Amino acid sequence: MKVSGFLCGCARTVVQPRDHYDSGACPDPPFPLEWINAILDRNEGDERHAGGNITATRLLGCPRAALLLDERPVPVDVKRLHSAAFGHEWHDLMAARRGASLAKVVIPATELFGVQVSGEVDKVAPDWSTITDWKVHGETAQRMKHNKRKAGGVDRDLAAQLNIYRILIARSILKVPDDEYRPTMVGWHLAMVSAEPHPSEPPPTPRGKSGWVPDAPVPPGVQVVCPVMTEAEIARHRPLDDDRSPGTQPYTVREIVKMYVDFRAARVGGMAFDQALRTHVPLVGRNIFGGKQCLRYCAALPLCDKVEGVQR
Ligand code: SF4
Ligand SMILES: [Zn+2]
Repeated sequence: MKVSGFLCGCARTVVQPRDHYDSGACPDPPFPLEWINAILDRNEGDERHAGGNITATRLLGCPRAALLLDERPVPVDVKRLHSAAFGHEWHDLMAARRGASLAKVVIPATELFGVQVSGEVDKVAPDWSTITDWKVHGETAQRMKHNKRKAGGVDRDLAAQLNIYRILIARSILKVPDDEYRPTMVGWHLAMVSAEPHPSEPPPTPRGKSGWVPDAPVPPGVQVVCPVMTEAEIARHRPLDDDRSPGTQPYTVREIVKMYVDFRAARVGGMAFDQALRTHVPLVGRNIFGGKQCLRYCAALPLCDKVEGVQR
């Protein structure tokens, strides 16, 4: 990601210059300067996600965002990058700790779904018997993960991600048929949450006229084990779909792969960037969380709106 300037709460309508925070010009910065710069260093130094490279995580998100952020400098609201940057820092902290040997295995570009896909696994056991992905959430998302696990539900996006790693490792590193490599696939959901009450505290009682009872505390760590998915099953998966009513999301992984392929072919054929995007890469993110994915989390929103001619 290349940052062209800042969208800052101190003056909503103008794009602030690149030195807005460093110079001390901002009267009301969203974070301490050190955190702002940590967020920016992390995003600007990300080379693995650049130049239209297809990674496991990119096949499970909005390809427009990936392609726009690879190609175009973007005015950034650092608050939008806060949660993801915090999650990445948490990963780095664990990867540097005792017990983390062979943590993070980088898988070189390998054929999957007919294209070259690369990936980065948070932790692989030395004998390859377990592959682990760490996720960092806020308390609300953690509660959803916790409830899903209690109900025996499968985290389909996480399963798809870990199975992409499984197949890539089988093909590029272990060089065995996909089906012969069946590691335990573990996902860890981690969150900052309110502390649990001490056992000696009285249980929560209904409050007010409505009789509202506070939710039981959500655990700060939730471990899930994912089932095996074949390449064909992953290809049919719809990222960020609603597990309770599948089919909410219009696009499958197979279709997202095709978007990257067709976009690249159009660019090689001389089509202008914006037109290639409009022609071959639909607004995959637009449907996710009823549009809130775009509005709250997508760093590419200003660029995406410009391509679409959307005024907000
Ligand atoms: S604004 Fe939405 S559709 Fe556009 S790039 Fe971002 S996530 Fe994708
Ligand atoms: Zn400001």
